[in-house]
Amino acid sequence: ELQCRYMNGVGAVEGGAVMVVFQDVTHLEQAGQMRRDFVANVSHELRTPLTALMGFIETLRGPARDDAAARERFLQIMTDEANRMNRLVGDLLSLNRVESEERVRPREQLDLTGLLQSTLTTLRPLAEAANVDLTLDTSSGPISVTGDSDQLRQVFTNLVENAIKYGGSGGSVDVRIQASERDTAMRGPAVRVQIADKGPGIDAVHLPRLTERFYRADSHRSRELGGTGLGLAIVKHIVNRHRGRLRVESTLGKGSVFTVILPR
Ligand code: ADP
Repeated sequence: ELQCRYMNGVGAVEGGAVMVVFQDVTHLEQAGQMRRDFVANVSHELRTPLTALMGFIETLRGPARDDAAARERFLQIMTDEANRMNRLVGDLLSLNRVESEERVRPREQLDLTGLLQSTLTTLRPLAEAANVDLTLDTSSGPISVTGDSDQLRQVFTNLVENAIKYGGSGGSVDVRIQASERDTAMRGPAVRVQIADKGPGIDAVHLPRLTERFYRADSHRSRELGGTGLGLAIVKHIVNRHRGRLRVESTLGKGSVFTVILPR
C-alpha cells in the first residue's frame, strides 16, 4: 500500500515481538538525485569550453605556432570560450544567491516603471547590435512596488535579453507595464510586465520545463548564442521571492510573451 519508492526501516525487538518503524525518505532521495544531476550538468557545461581551450593551447604550441592569422583566429575562439565559462560561473553564483535569499521578504519601495526604463536603456545597445526594435510602453506612469531593485533588474534583463537573442534580427521586442486594482491571478492589486517578441516561438511541450536549470528548448541555438541555460531558473526564484507569478505564452512561428505579475 505504500506509494513511496525509498524507505528507511528502524527495527526493534522487544519481548519476542518485532516492531519496524518505516520512514518515507522518497523526498530525501529525490533531493539527492537532483543534487547529483546538477553537479553532473555543471561539470559537463564547464568541461565543454575547457576541452576546447586545452585543444587550442596544444594547437598554438604546435601546428599554429608560426601562422599569425591562425593564431589570431584561435585566440578569438579561446576568448569566447573563456567568456562562456565566466558567464556560467556568474550565473551559478547569482542562482546560489537568489536561492539563499528566497525566504527573506524584500523591503525596498521602488518605482517599477522607472526601473524598467533604466534597465532598457542599458539593453538598447544590445538591441541595436541585433537590429531589434525595442519599445517600452510607460503610459501608466510610475508604479510603486515593494521589492529588491537589483533582483528585479536582473529579471527584466534576462527576459529582454532572451527576447532580443531568440527573437532574431530585424524583429521587435515590446515591453508593457500595467497596474490593476484587482488582478485575476493575484486576487488583489498587482502589476503586470509583459515582454513580447516576434521570434520563432517555443513548442508547447517545452513550456512547463523552461525554468528548470539547464533546460533548453533549442539547445543548439542557446549554445550558439552563448546561453548558460540558467537565466529563467534565476528569474523564477526571484519572482517567487516577490510572491509573484511568471507566465509564458508562445505560438510557433509567431513569437512569445513572458509576463511577470507582482503584487502591489
Ligand atoms: P539560455 O541561457 O539558454 O537562454 P534560459 O534559462 O534563459 O537559458 O532559457 C531557457 C530556454 O528557453 C532557452 O534555451 C530557449 O530555448 C528558451 N527561450 C527563452 N526565452 C525565449 C524566447 N523569447 N523565445 C524563444 N525561446 C526562448
